[in-house]
Amino acid sequence: MRKELWRARCLWRTPEFIKEACAKALKDGQTKYIAAAGLPALRSAIAADYTARGFGQIKDSQVIVSPGGKFSCYLAILAVVSPGDEVVVPAPYWVSYPEMVKLAGGVPKIVFAGDETGFRISPDQLRKAITPKTRLVILNSPSNPTGAVYPRKELEELVRICVEAGVYILSDEIYEHLVYDGVQSSSPAKFSPEAAKLVLTASGFSKTYAMTGWRLGTLMAPPKVAAAVADLQSQITSNATTFAQFGALAALQQPDKARAAVAAMLEVFDRRRVKLWKGLNAVPGLRCFRSEGAFYLFPNVSALGLDSSKFADKLLDEELVAVVQGVAFGADDYVRLSYATSDEVIDKGLERIHRFCTRLAETRQPASARA
Ligand SMILES: *Cc1c(COP(=O)(O)O)cnc(C)c1O
Repeated sequence: MRKELWRARCLWRTPEFIKEACAKALKDGQTKYIAAAGLPALRSAIAADYTARGFGQIKDSQVIVSPGGKFSCYLAILAVVSPGDEVVVPAPYWVSYPEMVKLAGGVPKIVFAGDETGFRISPDQLRKAITPKTRLVILNSPSNPTGAVYPRKELEELVRICVEAGVYILSDEIYEHLVYDGVQSSSPAKFSPEAAKLVLTASGFSKTYAMTGWRLGTLMAPPKVAAAVADLQSQITSNATTFAQFGALAALQQPDKARAAVAAMLEVFDRRRVKLWKGLNAVPGLRCFRSEGAFYLFPNVSALGLDSSKFADKLLDEELVAVVQGVAFGADDYVRLSYATSDEVIDKGLERIHRFCTRLAETRQPASARA
């Protein structure tokens, strides 16, 4: 069992050339404090990358390198949200958003979109959620936990509503490079000069280059907000780990190698995504949306009559399969599965989930007949 888990984890690993660049920096003595907002060469490489990708002329000072994409999100929220401000959070949401908003003294306003609408909120829903107290809207496409990706037109409509209302947008694009079925992820900061003034773009290296343990993230923001975020980071943590930033720099300085590593990973993820998605939809009582990004599937389990926590507990108890209960993401009818694991684990997991749900469906039938 342990060996199996080890093998599963090793399939998603940091590319060698990135690790080597970090090891070299460590050897070369890059072990001291640097500028709080990040290694100047790395900030510059990130700014150049955004500029090259059509975000307009991005200055180095608009980029912060933080200890993780999660911290980037928190800094963004802290920088713009004051006590009592409302923040619109579409659900299913990444677990940390509402908690971060509360830590900043803000009030999360949850807007729900289930699998019937592809886990994407409508312009109408957003319009209704925005009040004079709204300060920020959080968008996360591709999404964790649903894997949903907003088509550009839909996202543009949402961003237009935010611009008209003059509210900031935190666009968490940590999965921007992990997309399938030929879809592309879109970045609100690119939509218009007006949008660029209101969008804080969070991203990082964790997911694209399998660097979750490195603790490196990025935030790109309008100049004034970026300066505030740099101040915040300076008071809260100082710089992200110095030698780790040299590894990230290698990813940007050797784009061919980086692209090849990502492409190889995506090909494998894609195959596993389709396999897991088909397998889940063949399970009695499950309905699974075909996600187009990240590395999660988020099947609806409500037809089996258990809430997501009971479903997850029972599945773990009876079949030793771990899934995350949707209630943690504000969606109690669902559970989250990751396909960033081996084919073997996916096959075995599907077999066990199938057995488990078949059993649940059978024991449920007499109950519903009685009702
Ligand atoms: C993983 C993740 C992040 C950032 O993770 P870090 O490890 O802190 O870089 C940010 N947002 C979402 C939605 C994530 O799933």
